[in-house]
Amino acid sequence: MAPNREPTGLPTEPGAHAASLSIVVPLYNEAAGLDRLHARLAELAGQLRQRFGLPSEVVYVDDGSTDATLRIARDLPATNLDVQVVSLSRNFGKEAALMAGLDHAGDGAVLFMDGDGQHSPDLVEKLVGYWIDDGYDVIYTAKANRRNESALRRLAVHAFYGLVNWGARQKIPEDAGDFRLLSPRAAAALRQLPERNRFFKGLTSWIGFRQLRVDYEPAPRAYGVTSFSTKRLVGLSIEGLTSFSVAPLRFASLLGLLLALGAFLFGLSILWETWVKGETVPGYPSIIVGMMTIGGVQLLMIGVMGEYIGKILSELKARPIYFVAEHSRRRAEATADDHEQSAAE
Ligand code: UDP
Ligand code: MG
Repeated sequence: MAPNREPTGLPTEPGAHAASLSIVVPLYNEAAGLDRLHARLAELAGQLRQRFGLPSEVVYVDDGSTDATLRIARDLPATNLDVQVVSLSRNFGKEAALMAGLDHAGDGAVLFMDGDGQHSPDLVEKLVGYWIDDGYDVIYTAKANRRNESALRRLAVHAFYGLVNWGARQKIPEDAGDFRLLSPRAAAALRQLPERNRFFKGLTSWIGFRQLRVDYEPAPRAYGVTSFSTKRLVGLSIEGLTSFSVAPLRFASLLGLLLALGAFLFGLSILWETWVKGETVPGYPSIIVGMMTIGGVQLLMIGVMGEYIGKILSELKARPIYFVAEHSRRRAEATADDHEQSAAE
């Protein structure tokens, strides 16, 4: 018997079929552990069907992998769950891969999960419980602690979120990862956001609805290396900042104001020294310092404005976020359970 899903406000008409779950997994050179992950997901699908009466599918998005990922994905067995394989025409990046997965997922709930085993399938049943039993829409996982990261990195993360959330109505939670479950209506909302520059964590937070944070400890990468170097993370941060907030522009105005104020006070002090104390103020150093400060700040702020103009340009070009080179779908093979069910009907 399908549980009551009233609280999520699903757009279901009476008698509509039980909702479903789509698990979206972006894959970039994950050949080494794909078989194992898939076996675990198939097992999980069986548990979900049993406990919640929930049918599931998995959507693997091959993000232009250069190893055997696609070949392995094509042959994965559809035991317990439907298997879709979407192969992008080249490496578009994780955000684009997530978008491709969302576009191909069914209209039920959507779960996003990394393909490297860091996002534990063991936690999924709990996340689904928060959706079905408690009616939450966006259930996101967050790192329970960052003890194993350097102080510098923690500071950078803190500064980033401080800036993004500065004056924002809907704050993006710090430490939240991409491992998250969206209810059908939250997934539908996410699909409606048209922008090309996607910052997934920000967007899922921005849509609102009932959000829930679940702390967990991400497992260490089982094999391979992370594809997010520090350089790429900095890039992603700039991307997130500029597509999400105008805080850097406001910061520029504020800095300009402070500089102008400083200059004004400095001017006053010079007047004081020449008129009241009768001393001549040495000109050269103060002029050079002033010029360099103003010049530096101006260049920096032109750079910030340039980032936004670049963003406007790419939104204006309105190019597709990704291209699909190949798409396949296999329906779940009927299990013993299904036979019993159809016999009962
Ligand atoms: N990924 C992707 N496209 C990319 C880079 C990464 O689809 O260009 C996938 C990757 O296969 C993995 C997930 O995104 O499933 C997270 O990547 P990774 O583990 O390298 O990042 P980290 O966990 O270190 O943040
Ligand atoms: Mg990882």
